[in-house]
Amino acid sequence: MTAKPGPPLADRRTFLRTATAAAAIPAVVLATGALAGTAQAAPSPDLDLPDFAPVPAAAQGPALNSAGYFVGRIDGHLYWVTDGNYQAMFLSTREGVVLVDAPPTIGHNLLRAIAEVTRANGRPATVTHLVYSHSHADHAGASSILGKDVVRIGHSECRRFLLRAKDPNRPAPTVTFEDRYTLQVGGERLELAYHGPNHSPDNIFIHAPAHRTLMVVDVLYPGWVPFKHLAVSQDIPAWLRAQHIAMAYPWRTLVGGHLGRLGVRADGELQLAYMADLEVSTRAAMSLDPAPYFAKYGPAGNSWAVFKTYLDAVAAAAAAPVVAKYTGVLAAADVFTLDNAGTLVESFRIDAGMLGPFGTRP
Ligand SMILES: [Zn+2]
Repeated sequence: MTAKPGPPLADRRTFLRTATAAAAIPAVVLATGALAGTAQAAPSPDLDLPDFAPVPAAAQGPALNSAGYFVGRIDGHLYWVTDGNYQAMFLSTREGVVLVDAPPTIGHNLLRAIAEVTRANGRPATVTHLVYSHSHADHAGASSILGKDVVRIGHSECRRFLLRAKDPNRPAPTVTFEDRYTLQVGGERLELAYHGPNHSPDNIFIHAPAHRTLMVVDVLYPGWVPFKHLAVSQDIPAWLRAQHIAMAYPWRTLVGGHLGRLGVRADGELQLAYMADLEVSTRAAMSLDPAPYFAKYGPAGNSWAVFKTYLDAVAAAAAAPVVAKYTGVLAAADVFTLDNAGTLVESFRIDAGMLGPFGTRP
C-alpha cells in the first residue's frame, strides 16, 4: 500500500448532514472538514428548509461504524463499502485487491475497510488494480490516494475525459478497452462491458459472474428514486435502455454506487415500474393546453417565460400521480420525482420529437 489511512474524520454522515444544513457556510470551510466538530448545530430557521416524507426502513442500509463506513461481504472474496451515500466494491484476491471505484466521500475509509477485511482473511491488502465505473469525480475522486503503482482500468472514453480534466485526484486509466475486457487477478475474475453511453458516455457494467453480482453506477437505485434529472444523465433514451441492459444480466446482487444498501432483483423491477408510471403520466401531461401560457407572456414577447411556465406545469402534472403512488414505497419520491419528470418531458420533446405546442406549424 502506498498510502496509509490517516485518523478517521468525524462521522461523515453527520458531517454531510451538517454540511447540507449549513449550506450558507463557504464551501472552502466545508471542504476542510472544519465543521466536523459542530455536528450538533441546529439548522438555521432562516433557511426555511422543506420537510419530506420519511425514508422507508426498507431503503436504509446497515449502520456505519464509528469511522463512518460499513464494509460487508457480498459473496466469497467480493466485498462492498459504503458511507451511506456512495458505494465501492472490491475483490480480495491472492495477489492483492481489485477495487472498483474510489468515491471521495468514502476516501481513506476505503483503505481502512480493505485493511479490516484482509487482516481477517490473510490476503494482501495492496490495491493492485482500480476499475473506474466511469470518470465522474464523485465516484473516482479518491483514486489518487491509491498512489502511482495501481493499474487503472476504464473505458477508452473514460481515459479521454480524464486526460482532458487534468484532475490530479483522478489519474487517467492506462488500461482501456472498447467493448469488453476480462480482468483476472489472483484467482478472481471481473467481466467489464461497454454497452454505449447512458448516464455518462463512458459508464461501464462490471460483472462478477462467479459471485452473481453486477456493479453499474447511476442506473439503478435500490430502494430510492433515481437521483435528480434521471441521474443527471447525458443521454436519456440510452439511460432508460441501460436499466433493461442491467436487468438482463443474471445477477443476484447489485452494487448501484449510491446510497446505503445493495440491490436485489425486486429493486430493479420496482424502478422499472416507477419509470414506466412516470413515462405514462408524462405522456398524458404533455397534452396540457398551452393557451394560458402564451396569453400571459406572449404579448410581452417573453418567449422563455412561455417555455418555462408551460414545461414546468407539464412536469408538475406528470410528477403528481407518481409522487402519490411511490411515497412510502421508494425513498425520496417527493424529493426528485419532479426533477425526473422535467427531464423526461425534455427528452420526450427533443429526443422523441413529441413537441406538443412547439411542433410543426400547420
Ligand atoms: Zn456519474
